[in-house]
This record gives sequence, C-alpha cells and structure tokens, in this order.
Amino acid sequence: MTFKTLDDVTDLHGKTALVRVDFNVPVEDGQITDDTRLRVALPTIEKLQKLGAKVALLAHFDRPKGKVVPEMSLKFVAPALSALLGTTVAFASDCVGPDATEVLKRMPQGGVALLENVRFHAGEETNDPEFAVQLAALGDIYVNDAFSAAHRAHASTEGVAHLLPAYAGESMRRELDALNAALGAPVRPTIGIVGGSKVSTKLDLLKNLVGKLDALAIGGGMANTFLYAQGHEVGDSLCEKDLKDTALEILKEAEAKGCRILLPLDVVVAQEFKAHAANRTVDLGAVLSADDKIFDAGPRTVAQLKDVIANSKTLIWNGPLGVFELPPFDAATVAAAKFAAEQTQSGKLVAVAGGGDTVAALNHAGVVQDMTFVSTAGGAFLEWMEGKDLPGVSALG
Ligand code: ADP
Ligand code: MG
Repeated sequence: MTFKTLDDVTDLHGKTALVRVDFNVPVEDGQITDDTRLRVALPTIEKLQKLGAKVALLAHFDRPKGKVVPEMSLKFVAPALSALLGTTVAFASDCVGPDATEVLKRMPQGGVALLENVRFHAGEETNDPEFAVQLAALGDIYVNDAFSAAHRAHASTEGVAHLLPAYAGESMRRELDALNAALGAPVRPTIGIVGGSKVSTKLDLLKNLVGKLDALAIGGGMANTFLYAQGHEVGDSLCEKDLKDTALEILKEAEAKGCRILLPLDVVVAQEFKAHAANRTVDLGAVLSADDKIFDAGPRTVAQLKDVIANSKTLIWNGPLGVFELPPFDAATVAAAKFAAEQTQSGKLVAVAGGGDTVAALNHAGVVQDMTFVSTAGGAFLEWMEGKDLPGVSALG
C-alpha cells in the first residue's frame, strides 16, 4: 500500500503535529524497566521539531477502560522522554479540551508536549467520531508512529486519521517497509518458520502463509499436532488432537498452493518439563513411551532447515522451534536463529521476525541486531502475518 511519510512534508512552522506513539512501557515500582518504546519515537519527534512543528504526543497506557485512573497517568513518561530528547517535554493533564489546547498554545515552535492517556476517555476505544473531532481540533496534521497499536480501530489510531492530513511516522514507515519486504512483495524463494505452542492460536497465520510462501517450516509444540495427524506417535507431548483434520487440511492447502511444508525429521524428547532434564534424540517414527514429551527439533531437522534457508532469499519467522526457555531444548531455535543471522549479515537473506516469545528467543540467541528487522509489535505483527487489514495502517492510505 502507499502512504505519505514525513518526507512529503517540507515546512511545519506555525503548525502542530498530532503524533500517535506507543508509550505503553513496562514499569516496576514506578520505574520504566525498558525505554525502547520511547527511543523508537525519537526520530519522528526530532524530524518534526526540525520542520518547525509543535509536537503533541498521543498515547495510551495500561487499561483504564474509559475512566480517569490516576495510577495510569502518563505523566511519569514526560521526564524520561525529556532526558532522551534533551529538551523539556510539557505535559497536559487531558488529551483533549482546554487543558491540552492551553499547553500547546504556550509552547514554542519545536516544542514537545505529551498529552494524558487517551484511554481515560471512553470514546478512544469505541472510536467515537466526536472524540476524534476533539483530538483533531488540536493539530494541523496527524502522524501515526505506533504500528503496535495499528490493529485497533481506536479514535487516536484510526478515527482522527480521516480528519487531518495523515502521515506514517519514521518507525511506522520502517516497520511497514520491513514487513512489505518480508511478505508483501518479497524476493523469492521465500521461507517461513512458524513455531510456538499451539496450532489453535495460529490457524489464520498458517492458512495465510501457505498461500504466500514457497516453503514453510512448522516447529515447536504445534508441529506435534501435524505429526500426530500424519499418524506419528507423540507420547505425552503438547498436541491438539482435536485439530487433526484442520492440520491435514492445512497440509492439503499447502500442496495445492505449491508451498513445501517442512516438519521435524527428528525430535528431542524428555519426560520432565525442566531445564537439563534427561533427554534423547530420536528419529521420527521411533516409538515414544506414554511419558515422553517432544521439547525440541533434532539436528537432522535443523540441518534440513538450514539448507532451505540457504536456498531462500527471504525469511519470515514467528514462534520458537522448541521450549527455548529450558536448555538444552533451546538448541534448534538458537541454531536456526544464528544461521539466519549469518545469512542476513552476508547479504544473502532478508530475515524478518516477530512475536513476544520469538523476540525473547532471538535475544537469547543474541541475534536481534543481526536480523533485517525484528518486530516488537506483538498483536499487530501477528494480525499482519495473518493477512488482516490493520485499521491504523489502512487509514493512512
Ligand atoms: P510468540 O509469542 O513468539 O508468538 P508462542 O507464544 O506461540 O510464540 O510460543 C512460544 C512458546 O511455545 C514458548 O513458551 C515455548 O516454550 C513453547 N513451545 C515451543 N515448543 C514447544 C514444545 N515442543 N512443547 C511445548 N511448548 C513449546
Ligand atoms: Mg507468546
């Protein structure tokens, strides 16, 4: 899709840019434990400052459910953002109305203000047109830099985009470019890796990917359901036996669409769910006892996967290949991640990954910086992988 970016703006002197960011940061004992989301917003804020705009930041925090909940105020973010930007960030105690208007009026060109939690208003999550009008009244242009909130059609992510000239911010643009390179218009051959615990949470994702990719490796707990559907023993492994027919349908669909499916050739089994549990590696087809649980893919599976990655130009990855939290059952995930990172670093592969546990697994493997792009957008990333329209992105088009 095409959307306008800040490169399409030349001068914003005397104008106010209303910018949706994701400042829903993790907090412990009143301290921000990870300020990645603040850092991600800096390029957009700085670019708008350079263009001469006043910058009004809109964000949500936690789930106040349409009421003012003082403990969910965004006020504590303003000093942290000030420190990162090196300029004072003003704070308005409401995101619409006279408080916000007054703070913005008093601010100089290039000034930055953070507005209070948009979710203090019920109209935010219901995408109330009147609330969107109140938001739009504060700005001359709208910039969305919160891809991670783009799967929600809320007033500050969707409604307001129709009321002002709308642009993708710098990190939104980066994310959309990466996602487009991975699945929208990828260089082929393409391979996907889908792992994680359950097929049931990733049905839409699997169905979308088999229609788009040249190859798809299925790993993690969800591979057990596919192995079971094909008649293999899975012992006491995580397995959704009721999804047998669904798994077979996905395999059939893949065949019809010319997507090669890679399932484990060998597996690592243990009986206890704990780190360093006694384990053995067996070929697929080996007899598993009733207590055996498959916790990881084996070395033959990894070798096959590496071979296919080596012959691919684009990789899209969601879901670990095993119980990576418990070594040594992190082995397949780490080996595949390191190989994908090497291929990416030598310019042979575009590798894009995302998902809560996937990001944790890639961090564990130490390769987040070496992939082309790792999305921390969670739900928005998964919905995009499922082929769904993201309302916050569509509204920019
Ligand atoms: P993401 O958050 O990246 O979308 P998921 O939540 O779908 O990923 O899956 C991650 C979880 O899957 C991890 O907690 C991991 O331990 C689990 N998992 C992977 N392989 C297995 C397996 N063979 N048996 C049980 N759980 C598994
Ligand atoms: Mg998860």
